[in-house]
Amino acid sequence: MSDYDLIVIGAGPGGYVAAIRGAQLGLKTACVESRETLGGTCLNVGCIPSKALLHASELYEEAHSGALEKFGIKLTGAKLDLKTMMAEKTKAVGELTGGIEFLFKKNKVDWIKGHAAFESDKSITAGGKSYSADNFIIATGSSVTPLPGVKIDNAKGIVVDSTGALELPKVPKHMVVIGGGVIGLELGSVWRRLGAKVTVVEFLDQILPGMDKDIRKDSARIFKKQGFDIKTSTKVTGVAVKGKKATLTVEPAAGGDAETIEADAVLVSIGRRPNTEGLALNKAGLSTNERGQIEVGHDFQTSVKGIYAIGDVVPGPMLAHKAEDEGVAAAEFIAGQTGIVNHELIPGVVYTYPEVASVGKTEDELKEAGANYKVGKFPFSANSRAKANRDTEGYVKVIADAESDRVLGVHVISSLAGTLIAEAVIAMEFGATSEDFAYTCHAHPTHAEAIKEAAMAVQGKPIHM
Ligand code: FAD
Ligand code: NAD
Repeated sequence: MSDYDLIVIGAGPGGYVAAIRGAQLGLKTACVESRETLGGTCLNVGCIPSKALLHASELYEEAHSGALEKFGIKLTGAKLDLKTMMAEKTKAVGELTGGIEFLFKKNKVDWIKGHAAFESDKSITAGGKSYSADNFIIATGSSVTPLPGVKIDNAKGIVVDSTGALELPKVPKHMVVIGGGVIGLELGSVWRRLGAKVTVVEFLDQILPGMDKDIRKDSARIFKKQGFDIKTSTKVTGVAVKGKKATLTVEPAAGGDAETIEADAVLVSIGRRPNTEGLALNKAGLSTNERGQIEVGHDFQTSVKGIYAIGDVVPGPMLAHKAEDEGVAAAEFIAGQTGIVNHELIPGVVYTYPEVASVGKTEDELKEAGANYKVGKFPFSANSRAKANRDTEGYVKVIADAESDRVLGVHVISSLAGTLIAEAVIAMEFGATSEDFAYTCHAHPTHAEAIKEAAMAVQGKPIHM
């Protein structure tokens, strides 16, 4: 008999959720984690600390920049105490990772401390011991993609990855962000708000790859207005560190004359790659695809029976909520139920100010597929709540099928985009048409009314525009 019904490898949002779900469904479950704390990238060095700093830095900017004066609030002498800001972030992380430990105990999930490696398709070693199980879920997540020729040294705090950028000991005068994706814009926002000049160097001709084209263009315009220097179609060919300064060599992506940029901090954020090193996948009869990911079927089972994989280590967007939903579904399949994840409707949110959020198809994807679609847009400058709050940056864009009117994509730039997108996800999950959005009563005055009006604009009939 095996030691466990289920062993989950990795305690990130994919793994810890899978372990809890497995235990809830009556499986004798253990979860192996090599970190000192549970919660994976997301809780320890990802979603949570970045959002804690985004929130705190937004408060600082509001207090410091004079932005509140138009509301009759005069603040003088607002000062940054970076150490306290960092300590509050660490406290939030500790409370949440400790919360997972509590949930493991509550649900009787054994936490095996150590790095797991397969011995066979039915056993692993971790922490110097061997454990067998009838089923495994690989949820080992991802790590930073290195940039060839650029050495990351988080301890030095000059050339850093996202983990280092969450811990900088002081505000850099000039930070260069390599990669205009989600991490670059979120962590770039944190340090810009705290006083750094931030330059973003992006290889492609637009920031935020994968987002809708209008959203990419308009969010770049907004970020530039905030002071970001965004250099698109540009590549970094080298970073030299001398003393406390870094010199970056950049050139046009298509080739051309090189120039140099001086910085006191360089954030390398050009993507992440799956963690499979040291897992001895071959001993379980497994291998990875050309992108280093573990391929799975609709039930998250790999090519080896009884071994499942979820989250950042499998294909798809590298997002915590996607990993969590896959964790629930995989555990349900193992327990003999049918788990469901609709990969067509995974929302994506960039937690900048304003936020950027998206679900479903982009206009580019629909164009490429030759689809017949209609677009409705509504700006927050015409939304009464946004206007009352003096918070009018952004808009909602609804894309619907031209024949069936079924909503195919919703894209939002707004201070509340991440919250607003949930309405679109639910409605689209139920197959809503733009008319369904338009004829659903939305509370007044709320930012959510902009979704209703954008849906009305699909028919060409918004009220307030
Ligand atoms: P992970 O969270 O990476 O967890 C995997 C765990 O497995 C790790 O703890 C690792 O130590 C452990 N592990 C690996 N190999 C082994 C082994 N052999 N044995 C034992 N343990 C092992 N996503 C969002 O949706 N929203 C956000 O706001 C967001 N913000 C982010 C901000 C930053 C700075 C970063 C870096 C990422 C962010 N992400 C965000 C992405 C999100 O963190 C990941 O998509 C998510 O953590 C993936 O979950 P996972 O369970 O697949 O893997
Ligand atoms: P990303 O894929 O979002 O962006 C990387 C960017 O770097 C891209 O725009 C890419 O074109 C650019 N790039 C690649 N090579 C380059 C080079 N040599 N020079 C200049 N630019 C280059 O990756 P990321 O920002 O590192 O984030 C990694 C993952 O973490 C993402 O998949 C994301 O989903 C996840 N994440 C999510 C959130 C969130 O949901 N809010 C926050 C942070 C991270």
